[in-house]
Amino acid sequence: MNDAELLVLLDRMHPRAECELRFATPYQLLVAVILSAQCTDKRVNLVTEKLFANCPDPHSILALGQEGLEREIKSCGFYHNKAKNILAATEMLLSEFGGEVPRDRDTLERLPGVGRKTANVVYAVAFGGDAIAVDTHVFRLSHRLGLSEATTPRGVEEDLSSRFPQEAWSHLHHLLIHHGRYVCKAQSPACGKCLLTSACKYYSEKK
Ligand code: SF4
Repeated sequence: MNDAELLVLLDRMHPRAECELRFATPYQLLVAVILSAQCTDKRVNLVTEKLFANCPDPHSILALGQEGLEREIKSCGFYHNKAKNILAATEMLLSEFGGEVPRDRDTLERLPGVGRKTANVVYAVAFGGDAIAVDTHVFRLSHRLGLSEATTPRGVEEDLSSRFPQEAWSHLHHLLIHHGRYVCKAQSPACGKCLLTSACKYYSEKK
């Protein structure tokens, strides 16, 4: 099976693969992605639904302060650091970028708490850029499917970017996340439900 066929089959299994975080602005997406580290999108959406209803923009989030923001986001875990990063990033957005989230990926990565993965998600989802954000699902799936042997997320991103056409990058990212979340789970991959068995290195080795 070649990479194009792999994309077709992933698409068939996950026809509605897209970002599951809810947001109304690039800034809200940035906050949601920071909150999503080590936390499910479902939990983040519950938290942000209330948070963004009262504090939809940089000024109102900043006005919460460290303790106030921690209270709002506590159930997302790692709330102390997440609140610290969100407030520091918000301050930088207001002081250097007029409160707007930069569209440029390198500039995004300069924001506190924003690494390559977060920058890629915001760049792709908020601004329609071409990027492959490598999270735990994308990393695991890339290895299981034999798409990459790189040992770092950046290495996996480079391997996937060189294998697949640029216009497919963002969609591939969502397809792999959905496949990792709902079919090829870390502990118990549902190979019986998967259309990729004939292309899967992990499956053929297990067999
Ligand atoms: S065949 Fe199994 S291990 Fe391979 S991608 Fe499908 S679910 Fe994952």
